[in-house]
Amino acid sequence: HRRDPAQLDLDFAPRPRDAEELFNVLCGLGLRTIRRCRLTRNRNVMVSFGGGELRVHEGYLNAPTRVLEAIVTFVEGRTRADRRAAQQLIVGFPVRTPRTPVRREGTHADDEHIVDELTVWHRRYNMRHFNGRLRAIDIRVSRRMKSRLGHYTAAAPGEPAEIAISLAHLRKHGWEETLHTLLHEMVHQWQDEAGHTIDHGATFRAKARHVGVAPLARRALSAKPGRGLGFSTVNRRAARQG
Ligand SMILES: [Zn+2]
Repeated sequence: HRRDPAQLDLDFAPRPRDAEELFNVLCGLGLRTIRRCRLTRNRNVMVSFGGGELRVHEGYLNAPTRVLEAIVTFVEGRTRADRRAAQQLIVGFPVRTPRTPVRREGTHADDEHIVDELTVWHRRYNMRHFNGRLRAIDIRVSRRMKSRLGHYTAAAPGEPAEIAISLAHLRKHGWEETLHTLLHEMVHQWQDEAGHTIDHGATFRAKARHVGVAPLARRALSAKPGRGLGFSTVNRRAARQG
């Protein structure tokens, strides 16, 4: 049968399953100066080495041989051009980070009607304040969220963006406040989709004023000292920028 280019990528050598097997495969491909291999999950670093140790993102366990060869060249390559070409091959391989189910709790079945209601309000606010331009988004009601009212999370590979709303917040402060929180998180959604930094800076404040969100509204669910900021948005982008 015909082989298409995608199939040429496939080779049928058994895939390494852990750091040690990967190390053995890489040694078979010419790795010399490395003594041990460690797998990482850091999405920002695909491959790095130093002190005799090679750190490789676990997603490369599934990489085809030519990508593994590139990792070897990245370490052992004689010329800068060789190493740069290898680097491009390495980062060109789509690393799939496994979904981490611990990161996101699902909405409790008893709270689904709240999600439905919030979804209706998301649509309504979208038309009213954003010209209907925001994307439809997953909304989740969280029973775990105790110190925060709401949370916008930007999309990541394999994970869509979402807005989470604290159930404790709804119980304690009621619908009106909760809808206010939804709108607050929608301003973060707007920041994200418009390519702005997700924060509470000048862009946020201007938009918040425009849509009628109190720009400095702060309220904590648990009065932990030093954690007065009720609204909190922590996502990769914000985290990266501190
Ligand atoms: Zn916020």
